Amino acid sequence: MAWSIDRGAVPGQGHPGSDAKDNILGVANRDIANRGRTGHMFIGHFAPAFVAAAAYSRGPRLATYFIAAQLVDWAFFTLALFGIEEMRITPGATAMNPLDLYFMPYTHSLAGSAIWAVAFGIIVAIWKRDQLGGLVAALVVLSHWALDWVVHRPDLTMAGGEETYGLGLWNYPAIAMPLEIGITLAAFAYYMKRSRGPIGQPLIMIFILLLLQAVNWFGPEPVEAGALLYLQALLAFALATVLAGWTARNRNFPKRGGLAAPSA
Ligand SMILES: [Zn+2]
Repeated sequence: MAWSIDRGAVPGQGHPGSDAKDNILGVANRDIANRGRTGHMFIGHFAPAFVAAAAYSRGPRLATYFIAAQLVDWAFFTLALFGIEEMRITPGATAMNPLDLYFMPYTHSLAGSAIWAVAFGIIVAIWKRDQLGGLVAALVVLSHWALDWVVHRPDLTMAGGEETYGLGLWNYPAIAMPLEIGITLAAFAYYMKRSRGPIGQPLIMIFILLLLQAVNWFGPEPVEAGALLYLQALLAFALATVLAGWTARNRNFPKRGGLAAPSA
């Protein structure tokens, strides 16, 4: 954690696995009570991206929406590299993963997400000369917070501060895991149904996304939060985005009204 700022105000922070000591030292009960299944949703965030690219097929393509869908996680792991936002590993805290995301006000507060959404929407609107595309991209950015709110334990805020939110569906993996895979595959199927082209690229894309998700869920747990872990996450997002771009280049959307493609 060489990059991280030591926020020494709260005893025990930055010392993974020191729950018992935290308790004795009188850390706020909220901090202890909130320990539960947590971490970052990965594949489920791409569901709104598939839907957006398929529903507004004349707008930005899939890769733009893939970036939108994970924009605040791109930002989180980048800020974490510099110790501006923080997470830690709390071994044994959860059955599914030990990530404790305890300081992310700039990316995972609702206000912070909204600012990222507006900024990204404006960039897309100008870059693509497409105001509706900008709006849809902004909504996809915001969808990240909404999905996180459903699955995260309470580690999200409205605008930073003490009050935290999250329905904690990850406490019920038997529901959360099939649900996350289910919405992703349904959205992918919708994208495939609306578009035409070879099947190979999209199948390779969805296979690799599922593989990354499987590693996330069933692979070895990270033992330490730090640059290596953050770079791994950013690399996974980059790989997903490249695959989305590659897929989208090989998919076409038939014109509305059933007109044949010009090349036919
Ligand atoms: Zn997130």
